[in-house]
Amino acid sequence: MEISGNDIEPPPFIHIRRNIFLVKKKRDDIDDGVGCSCKESCQENCECRAQTMSCSKSCVCNERCGNKPFRREKKYKLVKTLACGWGVQSCERISRGEFIVEYVGEVINEAMCEERLWTMKERGDHNFYMCEIGKDFIIDATFKGNASRFVNHSCDPNCILQKWRVDGEIRIGIFAIRDIKDGEPLTYDYRFVQFGPSVKCQCGSRLCRGNLGESYQQKSTKQLGFKSTDIPAWGEKHRRSQKSID
Ligand SMILES: [Zn+2]
Ligand SMILES: [Zn+2]
Ligand SMILES: [Zn+2]
Repeated sequence: MEISGNDIEPPPFIHIRRNIFLVKKKRDDIDDGVGCSCKESCQENCECRAQTMSCSKSCVCNERCGNKPFRREKKYKLVKTLACGWGVQSCERISRGEFIVEYVGEVINEAMCEERLWTMKERGDHNFYMCEIGKDFIIDATFKGNASRFVNHSCDPNCILQKWRVDGEIRIGIFAIRDIKDGEPLTYDYRFVQFGPSVKCQCGSRLCRGNLGESYQQKSTKQLGFKSTDIPAWGEKHRRSQKSID
């Protein structure tokens, strides 16, 4: 899959470390003051983790806490793939459930999103970097973002996007859903969060559904039914009845 060094650079964008809010920042203060009561390090059975909430100063756990995922990202690099443009590849072994990198961009609302989609359509631009996290909470990494915007789609992915609360703030992380080897391409399933025109999927997996993306859909943050052994995903498809841009 990888093509070496002297290939052209990916199209320019502004690199950011944290989301930039173009809409009012939503804070979820309901949980403030509520923390877990784990004795030392927080593992699988931590109450915070069960709610995809990062431990905070309200918790009694100590510095060995294993439930502050957004603090350290994994090692990865950008690679040019044969079929899917730029992609992201791991540069270390990653265990199932581990945080890899935050999905960051500009946080916009639906009205801004529609406006941007129309502009893109007029330009004939087909590179979509928008993830709908909730109502009026869309992360658009088109202009500003980090390497996470290059993580490609697969119908049989090794990663998932997860919504976490970190100190009262919603943040989106890319997490491993299985053990990942050093040098493996990182992928997640765009179906749940991303939208764009319908194009032929190039993921090449045995489970490939054939097509990727559809017209602008609205998705809720309702969690999908998942088994307790699964890492929770969220998102549910609703075809948008009006203002389809396709
Ligand atoms: Zn805990
Ligand atoms: Zn905690
Ligand atoms: Zn903790």
